[in-house]
Amino acid sequence: MIWPFTYQALPMRVVFGAGALASLPEEVEALGLTGVLVLCSPEQEATGRAVAAALGKRAAGVLPEARMHVPVEVATRARGVARDLGADGCVAVGGGSAVGLGKAIALEHGLPVIAVPTTYAGSEMTPVWGLTEGGQKRTGRDVRVLPRTVVYDPELTLTLPAGMSATSGMNAIAHAVEGLYAPDASPIISLMAEEGARALTAALPRVVADGGDLEARGEAQYGAWLCGAVLAATTMSLHHKLCHTLGGTLDLPHAQTHTVVLPHALAYNQPAAPDAVAALSRALGGAPDPARELWELAGRLGAPRSLAELGMREADVGRVVELAVANPYGNPRPVTRDGVESLLRAAWAGQPPP
Ligand code: NAD
Repeated sequence: MIWPFTYQALPMRVVFGAGALASLPEEVEALGLTGVLVLCSPEQEATGRAVAAALGKRAAGVLPEARMHVPVEVATRARGVARDLGADGCVAVGGGSAVGLGKAIALEHGLPVIAVPTTYAGSEMTPVWGLTEGGQKRTGRDVRVLPRTVVYDPELTLTLPAGMSATSGMNAIAHAVEGLYAPDASPIISLMAEEGARALTAALPRVVADGGDLEARGEAQYGAWLCGAVLAATTMSLHHKLCHTLGGTLDLPHAQTHTVVLPHALAYNQPAAPDAVAALSRALGGAPDPARELWELAGRLGAPRSLAELGMREADVGRVVELAVANPYGNPRPVTRDGVESLLRAAWAGQPPP
């Protein structure tokens, strides 16, 4: 049965394919931009400078200072640099950190962002921004921060290390999982979520076995695009709430935390989300228990499976449980203190989901 739904398409252009980076100058020109600031993290400075060189006089400068969770001081400095250079747009090259910095500039100055993603995090598809100050991350939605154009070039992901490829891919799958049982799910978004999960789970073992496999890289990035679009269109539930809390309070690494928590959060919700289980089961090649299958997949990919491995102390479980249950939010299965506690204890210890 098709249930009633609302679907809001987002205004954005996507250019996809191996070698797509070559079209960046045309994309900058199509938006009427004459001097863009190229943003990247310090580790990807060489890539950022190569992109600026390809843009020639249309690049106003390079700022290789993007950092995880967009610290407010980094955003303030980047806004100042953009203003001083007279930039009329930004090109964010990298993962969610570089894209997030572009969004922080757009939020204040309204400068259009072109995203050139090099991980599978999916931020480039969403109007969600985040800023961190004094250990607290604030997030919000504003269509002004949505990149106008996204250039996906799988060649740029060839250098993403196996570990980061695996966890970043699991981060993307988490968007698909929670999109499938979201309160604002819709048939079109469920199609994208199922196909995104299928593409990523098929591609990731090949990507991890051979980081230079361009076809597998392309399939993974296609999946990441779909999963990012799902994240943009739906309200996330328990899994994202837990990861947000773990990242914000204990400073655990983003993609790795998603990887560890996902099988447990899905196992918690599976009894209350039969349609999502059916879709994920199809996406995962007929696996009867998608939560268990994702846990097995993380193991096969050599990804972390315990929060202890990520540096969390067992003594912190209680604090995270309190924070996670403090504000009520939508979830297919009621969120109880005992339920969240046993979920987190299993995730902390690296046990398989029940
Ligand atoms: P990241 O952007 O912090 O990148 C991690 C590291 O990998 C960096 O050092 C980066 O330079 C390096 N890297 C990236 N691509 C590479 C490549 N191809 N080759 C070699 N090194 C590469 O990590 P991320 O997981 O992409 O992003 C996480 C951040 O994005 C978090 O702050 C998260 O909250 C945010 N995020 C936001 C949204 C949203 O919708 N607003 C969605 C997803 C993630």
